[in-house]
Amino acid sequence: MYRKFGQRSQGRQNFNRFNGNQNRGARPVKAFNPIEFINNIPEVKKEEKEQENIITHSFSDFQIAPELKRNILEKGYTKPTPIQDRAIEPILEGKDLVGIANTGTGKTAAFLIPLINKVLKDRRQKVLILTPTRELATQIKSEFLDFSRFLNIFACLCIGGEDIRRQIRDLSRNPNFIVATPGRVQDLIGSRAINLSSFSSVVLDEADRMVDIGFIKDIKYIVSLLPKTRQSLFFSATIDNEVQQILQSFVQDPVTVSVKTRDTSQNITQKVILVEKTKKVEVLHDLLIKEDFVKVLVFGRTKHGVQRLSDELAARGFKAGAIHGDKRQSQRNRTLELFKKDEINILIATDVASRGLDIPNVSHVINFDLPESRDAYIHRIGRTGRADKKGIALTFVN
Ligand code: AMP
Repeated sequence: MYRKFGQRSQGRQNFNRFNGNQNRGARPVKAFNPIEFINNIPEVKKEEKEQENIITHSFSDFQIAPELKRNILEKGYTKPTPIQDRAIEPILEGKDLVGIANTGTGKTAAFLIPLINKVLKDRRQKVLILTPTRELATQIKSEFLDFSRFLNIFACLCIGGEDIRRQIRDLSRNPNFIVATPGRVQDLIGSRAINLSSFSSVVLDEADRMVDIGFIKDIKYIVSLLPKTRQSLFFSATIDNEVQQILQSFVQDPVTVSVKTRDTSQNITQKVILVEKTKKVEVLHDLLIKEDFVKVLVFGRTKHGVQRLSDELAARGFKAGAIHGDKRQSQRNRTLELFKKDEINILIATDVASRGLDIPNVSHVINFDLPESRDAYIHRIGRTGRADKKGIALTFVN
């Protein structure tokens, strides 16, 4: 059975560890009031919703290679999602695209399908896909593998935390696709393993998150090395001034597709739990032992806080794991796999580590620490209530 807090001799010390130094090393919390936000969630008007969900294509309508269509079917996709419905055709026509969409909308397939088709038509084509996090890059690569089965097209995953020599070796085989995070791409450019002048198709995925993490300079530098004549695809859930800056220098005469249904998801019940700072772990414990808390994603703000919470929950007998920036990539992947396979049912994460994760069937998202902004809040709670399932998001507020 789970041990309650206070049942262990060093309980009080741990308690203070959780609640004392939470801000150490983190950016200051911006004013974000979840209660106000939750009370004012804009209702998506019925007509708007219906309008957004009208699908005008089936996969068989797209002018793509039959073997690619076969792989889409094999993957179990029977009809396009709204973003695929509207983005695949313009991308196939070679247009630049701005996709205002977040994870969960099917945006990955929206760019992978037409770009794989482009390479099938011309094997000299090279595609660079830039993502903010290693996890998202890994997910894109995995989706790429499904779509490219038996097509003899290869992708190299270039992310930090993994053996760079192996990546250099894979790059020497001249893959058509590179899926990468900005830091590692720059290292590989520096060591002359990547020459961006031959990449005439580029995807910037989750551009808003790249800006949040502080990749804006890196992105500008990478974009400056790309050929002027290229096809540029830009995806972002939100577009503020800084994101707009990158967008303007990146795309030319783009088609814009906006799919925002997930933003104010109707599938997620959102609640605020008022809890004293010193009682947070206790309250979390009492929630986690409830039967319906089947698969729970808990968000903390700092790497240390997340690790400590994970250790504490594990010591109490919960099947919990943590992902954050201090963990090696292989450890993060392993924890993520355990969570996906239900071998652990509680995952504690920082915002950066959890960005873009596609984990099916998360029953609850718990904001143990407040998110820094409205956008971060939306990204967090969007991990539950996916694919039209119901989800619950709880936010601790003191
Ligand atoms: P994404 O927004 O690209 O991360 O995709 C979110 C989830 O939707 C992933 O689990 C995809 O495998 C799934 N998905 C994407 N497109 C389709 C589709 N046309 N039919 C069914 N599932 C899809």
